[in-house]
Amino acid sequence: MIPFAVDYVRATSVAHALDVLSSDSDARLLAGGHSLIPLMKLRLAGVSRLIDVGRLPDLRGVEIHHDHVAIGAATTHAELGNDARLAEVLPLIRMAASVIADPAVRNRGTIGGSLVHADPSADWPAVMLALDARMEIASVAGSRVVPADAFFTGFMSAAVQQNEMLTRILVPLPGADRVAYRKFRHPASGYAVAAAAVALRYAGDRCTGGMIGVTGVAETAFRARAVEAALASEFNGSSEEINRLAEIAFVDVTPLEDGFADGAYRKQLAKVMLRRALTDAVRNT
Ligand SMILES: Cc1cc2nc3c(=O)[nH]c(=O)nc-3n(C[C@H](O)[C@H](O)[C@H](O)COP(=O)(O)OP(=O)(O)OC[C@H]3O[C@@H](n4cnc5c(N)ncnc54)[C@H](O)[C@@H]3O)c2cc1C
Repeated sequence: MIPFAVDYVRATSVAHALDVLSSDSDARLLAGGHSLIPLMKLRLAGVSRLIDVGRLPDLRGVEIHHDHVAIGAATTHAELGNDARLAEVLPLIRMAASVIADPAVRNRGTIGGSLVHADPSADWPAVMLALDARMEIASVAGSRVVPADAFFTGFMSAAVQQNEMLTRILVPLPGADRVAYRKFRHPASGYAVAAAAVALRYAGDRCTGGMIGVTGVAETAFRARAVEAALASEFNGSSEEINRLAEIAFVDVTPLEDGFADGAYRKQLAKVMLRRALTDAVRNT
């Protein structure tokens, strides 16, 4: 395939990247390149200039503060999965990182690229919804923070404009008391055909509430709110209760359909993944 001509700029700082980005409406940020480059090769993305932010130190790494964790947007999936201190405070992150694609993708792909790309089958959106994360977004005009809940705006669409950059992902601490991630992988890509991220809060042995992120199932990742409402009031962790919650979780969801999974099969997989994730979480004391 003959690629179209494109300028390449290696950004020297966040400010430099934002300056170039705001001066050219066809410029795009490049992080790991694992989603953008395939789109460009297929000519599905028209790009005049690539601004490489993948190696900017300001965008990489994890800072653990007393009330939150700040994750640089260009931190790779592998770096997140290998961070033992992060796994101690937010074990859900390691659980998800370890099942993204394969080592080659995990070593190059970044959490920020994944969140902004907003593939409906990507893993991080479900995890960030369950962890109640907030997204820090910068432009030459300043910065703003968007909750994960409002970040995924539709099919492959996130609340980041062309002239903006996702700089950090902020996750509140303390994290949930019991967590789990279950995913049915597409056999070729590893993307989620259906996956559920579960984060439960406990007071002693009593569940006081929880957040559930689901991906792979609909046009965009979403929270299973009917389940969350039940978790806050009456959840006893029994298998009967878990089965009941899995049954009510996707009643109003319009499922994705493709050659691998039609809507009914996908919904069934989603129920099974949610049931397994809830069961794992209840046991993960
Ligand atoms: C074979 C294969 C298997 C995969 N399997 C999985 C899987 O199982 N699960 C999964 O979740 N993902 C999977 N992926 C996707 C992978 O995780 C990508 O790395 C990720 O989706 C995009 O991250 P990136 O750093 O490569 O972004 P890029 O491709 O560099 O960028 C993607 C988009 O985000 C924009 N962008 C990047 N960084 C920023 C930023 N900081 N601020 C604003 N915009 C930004 C870019 O302009 C572009 O539009 C797979 C990819 C491949 C090729």
